[in-house]
Amino acid sequence: MDSKKFKELLSSVESLTPTQSKRLRETLTQGQGAGSSLAVIEAAKPPACAFCVSERVVRNGRRRGLQRWLCRECGKTSNATTGTPLSRLRDKELFAAYADCMRQGMTIRATARELGMTIDKAFRWRHRFLENAVDHQPSSVSGLLEVDETYFRRSQKGSRKMARAPRRRGGGQGGGGGRSNDEWVPVLVGRVRGQPFTTDRVLGRVSGVEISKALAPVVKNTDTVVCTDGHSAYERLGERLGVTTKHFVASYHGHVREGGFHVQNVNNYHGRLQGWILYRLRGVATKYLPNYLAWMRLTSWKHQGIHADEIVASAMGRQAINL
Ligand SMILES: [Zn+2]
Repeated sequence: MDSKKFKELLSSVESLTPTQSKRLRETLTQGQGAGSSLAVIEAAKPPACAFCVSERVVRNGRRRGLQRWLCRECGKTSNATTGTPLSRLRDKELFAAYADCMRQGMTIRATARELGMTIDKAFRWRHRFLENAVDHQPSSVSGLLEVDETYFRRSQKGSRKMARAPRRRGGGQGGGGGRSNDEWVPVLVGRVRGQPFTTDRVLGRVSGVEISKALAPVVKNTDTVVCTDGHSAYERLGERLGVTTKHFVASYHGHVREGGFHVQNVNNYHGRLQGWILYRLRGVATKYLPNYLAWMRLTSWKHQGIHADEIVASAMGRQAINL
């Protein structure tokens, strides 16, 4: 850039809004700008045809900043996002910045404000970004797997047609006492002691069959020990999965923990998940619950959490967690 243009650039910096100047700062320091966002997308997928998976592809110009590949096998053109949930989203140069908002667990409203996009768009992007991550579960774990269930109130949040009258404000937890399936959705979470692996599943109901079905792909090593509380649904779990199980009895004074068998890591995770969903996001629609579980799994991967680039890659189908 010549010095005259650079002077103009510098003087225009003064008229930036606070959000704009924040984004400029990020572009300069963390490489979260447009170019880097497109580079992140390209890096997430090695050059190959999105239709026939052939690697015999040649460069075929750029479209909206992304490299287009022409397939020598089938003659079709594609780019890195073709065939992924992100393909039809516009403004791909914002992907990295959007993923960074997700990394921080931000609300739709805050994200829309931060990136200067509509609330509808921020919402649509959220679920496109999470679609693939739902299946990014651990494939086989070893060690001590803590398993326990938690419950979310059934919700039609965001739906324009409510099947029932809106709930009164403040009518939250408690009251009624029971956990009827009409009102509460059970979520199973498993965490491996001392390792970063997390598995989760929205259950139809809390039954031995459903629980063993959810855990079968995760528990393949016969030396894995599955630790649960005394709920009757876990009774025959060991038999069904072909592993050792440890059931402990919960007492009024807290959990009885003989020989270090407890589900405290899972229960802490439940607490953070509930707190984030109920208080920060103000509840989520039940139909999207699997996406939010995936989001929580992404942001709690290892102690340092996940990088925004990895969220983009995972949205494009590359498993970035539970590996
Ligand atoms: Zn092809």
